[in-house]
Amino acid sequence: MSRYSRQELFAGIGREGQGRIRRARVLVAGCGALGSALAETMARAGVASLTVVDRDTVETTNLQRQSLFDEEDAALARAKAKAAEARLLRLNSDVAVRGIVADLDAALADRLVRGSDLVLDGTDNFETRYVLNDVCLRAGVPWVYGACVGAHGVALAVRPGRTPCLRCALGERPAAGSGETCDTVGVVGPIVQVVAGLQAAEGLKILAGREEALVDGLVTVDLWAGTFDVASFGGRAPWCPSCTLRRFDYADAPAPPLAVLCGRDAVQLRGSGTALDLAALAARLRGAGEVVANEHLVRLRVPEAELVVFADGRAIVKGTADASRARSLYARYVGV
Ligand SMILES: [Zn+2]
Repeated sequence: MSRYSRQELFAGIGREGQGRIRRARVLVAGCGALGSALAETMARAGVASLTVVDRDTVETTNLQRQSLFDEEDAALARAKAKAAEARLLRLNSDVAVRGIVADLDAALADRLVRGSDLVLDGTDNFETRYVLNDVCLRAGVPWVYGACVGAHGVALAVRPGRTPCLRCALGERPAAGSGETCDTVGVVGPIVQVVAGLQAAEGLKILAGREEALVDGLVTVDLWAGTFDVASFGGRAPWCPSCTLRRFDYADAPAPPLAVLCGRDAVQLRGSGTALDLAALAARLRGAGEVVANEHLVRLRVPEAELVVFADGRAIVKGTADASRARSLYARYVGV
């Protein structure tokens, strides 16, 4: 019996559909709660290759819902993309898994999306999602949006040129900081599994060549209220520049040198791109506070903040949402 026999027996996929899944290249953007569940489902489903991109490290507060990670990952401050890669390879060694520790900006997204048959959204912010939407439309690669907070979640499959995109569905990008986040109002584990399940099901339909089975519209679920709705749009929005003019404002905007990670009490600094000597940095910082280092990053904890510095000089400063304070902490501990 094939490892995938139960999936082949399912009429919606069949042997032919499974053959297609087996040849598919999937990109999971962001590997937090949704990304963990999405990547695990795709690895178990037997895709050919799975690329997981994430910019951050595993923390103890992630473990309640981010199913690929464990206490050791948090204690050693492992990069999520690398911890996920190791775990996914143990789940299915038939899959070519690649974990990339990076911020998914437009340039990187462009490169990765072009080599993919499907993109699954595991990000936690609209900045990245609107870039991803543009990049996928430009490359003609289908993607599935998903988000959850509290006990509430949404999912939408986007087929470029055929169905409404994220911009059609939600309008222009919401102002940074205007929405609730898991760090401000919390999130329960079950909604993660439900939203990731919706996204993964749409993804499998696309990969199996069963696009006629896709849900027509934006799915919204509230697990506490016990409600499930689908809002159809009746086609792409006539005003959407991404769909009608192929004008990709979000992907073509220059990446800012610094980003306040909304609702997260954290700031990301892009760094110079030149490789840092992480071992030397770790040795230098040991007198300044609690240091954890591995091949991908150095984490420094001092009473007023936490700095995670990656090999390319990029850093996430946690414990402040003040950009100038983050910059001065970076200058003090890492240098300019
Ligand atoms: Zn659109």
